[in-house]
Amino acid sequence: MRFAVAIVVLVLVAGAGLTLFPHPRPAADLLLLSAHVVTMDASKSEAQAVAVLGDRILWVGSDAEARKRFGNASTTIDLHGATVLPGIIDAHVHLVSLGQSLLRLNLKDVSDEAEAVARVKQRIASAAPNEWILGWGWDEGKWASHYPTNKSLNEVSPDNPVFLVGLHGFAAWANQRALQLAGITKDTKDSENGKILRDEKTGEPTGILLNRAQALVEQHIPPLTLEQTKKAVEVAARECVRNGLTSVHDARVSPLMLEAFRELIREDRLPLRIYAILDGADSALVKEWLTRGPEIDPDHRLTIRSFKLFADGALGSRGAALLQPYSDSPQSKGVVTTPETEIYNLTRRALEKGFQVCTHAIGDAANRMTLDAYARALSESPQARDSRLRIEHAQVLSPVDIARFAQLRVIPSMQPTHATSDMAWAEKRVGAARIKGAYAWRSLLATGAHLPLSSDFPGETLNPFYGIYAALARQDPSGNPAGGWYPEQRLTLKEALRGYTIEAAYAEFEEKTKGSIEPGKLADFTVISQDINRLAPKEVLSIRVLKTFVGGKLVYGAEAAR
Ligand SMILES: [Zn+2]
Repeated sequence: MRFAVAIVVLVLVAGAGLTLFPHPRPAADLLLLSAHVVTMDASKSEAQAVAVLGDRILWVGSDAEARKRFGNASTTIDLHGATVLPGIIDAHVHLVSLGQSLLRLNLKDVSDEAEAVARVKQRIASAAPNEWILGWGWDEGKWASHYPTNKSLNEVSPDNPVFLVGLHGFAAWANQRALQLAGITKDTKDSENGKILRDEKTGEPTGILLNRAQALVEQHIPPLTLEQTKKAVEVAARECVRNGLTSVHDARVSPLMLEAFRELIREDRLPLRIYAILDGADSALVKEWLTRGPEIDPDHRLTIRSFKLFADGALGSRGAALLQPYSDSPQSKGVVTTPETEIYNLTRRALEKGFQVCTHAIGDAANRMTLDAYARALSESPQARDSRLRIEHAQVLSPVDIARFAQLRVIPSMQPTHATSDMAWAEKRVGAARIKGAYAWRSLLATGAHLPLSSDFPGETLNPFYGIYAALARQDPSGNPAGGWYPEQRLTLKEALRGYTIEAAYAEFEEKTKGSIEPGKLADFTVISQDINRLAPKEVLSIRVLKTFVGGKLVYGAEAAR
């Protein structure tokens, strides 16, 4: 009898247990606690905790409520007061070039010829027969008074071609095998803007090639294979997430790169989201994609709906197309590299098929020409309501063209560190009047334009906090010039952060999915060491990335789960 009562009591307790103390599956996969969450969401600008389910943000709020609602999350990470930003998006990059620069033999800190040759020797030990040994970083400025010859390189590498580019790209050091493959002999004439250094007695090339003469060898370096391209992308992507980037817009993608991206995603080797801007100069590629239409990835890993064109060259080398001659070269107005009709033609067809066009334009003439081409294509494509055509760099603008960006809803896609890298010489090129329309971030914002920001790595550092600092201060990392270079164009912290988050997401049609921390969006986060809202601009340079999450998955940093 007592036994039966015990059973009844047990059943009752167990039954009550099921209803009063349920153990359902966790309500969240990941809970971030004790954080300072910068949401970039106007309706809830700050929070302490974020809950994630699958690859999406489930909930944003206070620590106390998070503990109550999501105390049984599969993984809980106490961030001990660290700051969580929406995953940072870099809207203009070159992944393969970054990967290549990371994979090349690095001679940046070698002190002399012997040390450089020792590194080449080490690399030769693991090289395949005939494989090119590519390196960079020996200081052609410092070594200019005593350039080495290729004698030492020939000794360690008689068979493998060796080509070592200088730190600033003005000189290269090649061994005899590389010169031979390039057909460079005693009789080879110097090219325009290029010089082959020669032995004073014999007239034989020494292996040092200056400026454009480097191209004589460069053109014989075999193109990357698919495996090499994948390796370069993988190494670059890892470097990106280490720097807190969760998405990038790759600003000129070839069919080979596309194949590499796809294979890496399949093999789970790509931790980063990619918005691929196809090479618009590759007519076969353009034709193929205009026929098949955009590829918008439901998983947001790799989306293809954009073409890249080049309207002109760069300002430093006076290749940027200007309306009036260069202030420091009155015979020159730069070079238009894609005529207006071609930009118009591609844009017209792209709009019809739902593609975006991103055109590189640096000079005021190139920018005006691109705006004109876009305006015509837009006026003839009334069905293309949300076209988001872009101009990459939009570097030097005639004052009358500034307001046209917002009017045409054309996006100026700009790079804060370009201003601070160019400020030493940019005004010499364009003069005191035109410089007022150069790197004119605030003038563009004031007209209502969207302003995504980016690095253009590897030409500039990929550390986004260097870009944010340049946007805030318009100073170099040492704080020069005092007060900032044309400081009236500086951005506020909020504007700069928007540029690397929600505005960059807008530039890839993803602002409803990325760019802020709010329920329903992708769980992409950049966790940093300091409270960015409380830092002086210069201190932004010292921000360290602690963790990077893409789709709720930790792709960089230690988990330190409790
Ligand atoms: Zn670029």
